[in-house]
Amino acid sequence: MKTADKRVNLLDFDEAGLRAFFESIGEKPFRAQQVLKWVFHHAQTDIGAMTDLGIALRQKLESIAEIRLPEIIREQRSTDGTVKWLIGFHGGNAVETVYIPEPKRGTLCVSSQVGCALNCSFCSTGAQGFARNLSTSEIIGQVWLAAQSLGHERNGQRRITNIVMMGMGEPLLNFDAVVPALSLMRNDLGFGFAAKRVTLSTAGLVPGIHRLRETIDVALAVSLHSPLDDVRTELVPLNRKYPIAELMQACRDYVSDKHKRTVTFEYTLIDGVNDHPEHARKLVKLLRTVPSKLNLIPFNPFPGTRYRCSTPERIAKFQEIVMQGGLIATVRKTRGEDIDAACGQLVGKVLDRTKRSERIKLKMAETNS
Ligand code: SAH
Repeated sequence: MKTADKRVNLLDFDEAGLRAFFESIGEKPFRAQQVLKWVFHHAQTDIGAMTDLGIALRQKLESIAEIRLPEIIREQRSTDGTVKWLIGFHGGNAVETVYIPEPKRGTLCVSSQVGCALNCSFCSTGAQGFARNLSTSEIIGQVWLAAQSLGHERNGQRRITNIVMMGMGEPLLNFDAVVPALSLMRNDLGFGFAAKRVTLSTAGLVPGIHRLRETIDVALAVSLHSPLDDVRTELVPLNRKYPIAELMQACRDYVSDKHKRTVTFEYTLIDGVNDHPEHARKLVKLLRTVPSKLNLIPFNPFPGTRYRCSTPERIAKFQEIVMQGGLIATVRKTRGEDIDAACGQLVGKVLDRTKRSERIKLKMAETNS
């Protein structure tokens, strides 16, 4: 095990990184293409079986490198077809990855960090604290394992048609590992998804949005949750640092490039907090300034939360107002309820270095007494 840990994990590189790696060991860069095809097109992770590499190269590679995937600890299947995996990593941490099948597409929701440092007040991932960033291999490994576990449709179609970085963590706070993973999702030598089918969701890290625009072509989703700075700051404390006006400017810049036509705004509807008709009207005004779609998410409660989900009437009214205002708005259906696979319910196993979860438990005990 010790020697294995020292070997370079080839799954931590995108194509450019792998080419540089081969050059650095005195080999031809095109070897990168061969390795990627084995791993992503033939699901072959045994270097010894990569027959077009030549025996000598395979032996050399095996002595310094390996292809190391995370491991599926548990798989749960919902009655509605949603699948949730608990995926474990070296060192005892784990995250959850979710597959959501719909009639015309299958979406895989991928995690970028173990836990999350942003501490949004309505999200159970935040309440668990933050352990660490995932590596590129741990991010792309979730997709690899899910694709293997799901297999293909009977007609040979892939089950995963879309990937959303909407699992645990803030992807833009793990930029350097997330971008090569996105690049492997996009690359034809990897999974080959079109730009509009790979979505990164952020809580609103403005410098990260600018950097993403300059780095790779993927779709952008932004967790907005309120058109008002004071309400948004209560829900997403990061708003104090990057308020709504700055965030909107970053979004406008993102779509000003002709390939990136709309931003998806996520809006979790919480009873009495951000679901007032006046909020809906303010939201219309705000989002008129950005080419966008709005995704309304009924709040999913979790143990210990002080929030409640908006009533169905309130959700319907909110949607009516924003649609009359000219926005394209859908209400996200809650999926995988029987296996706790909904937004904000992903937990994994977070060895919390900040011990925030302990502090929250204490705080809850105090308020209950
Ligand atoms: N950190 C990124 C990626 C996580 S995406 C981001 O914030 O965008 C997860 C989505 O689910 C976000 O839009 C988040 O705001 C939303 N969410 C979190 N907790 C939720 C809950 N309890 N109910 C409904 N949606 C929730």
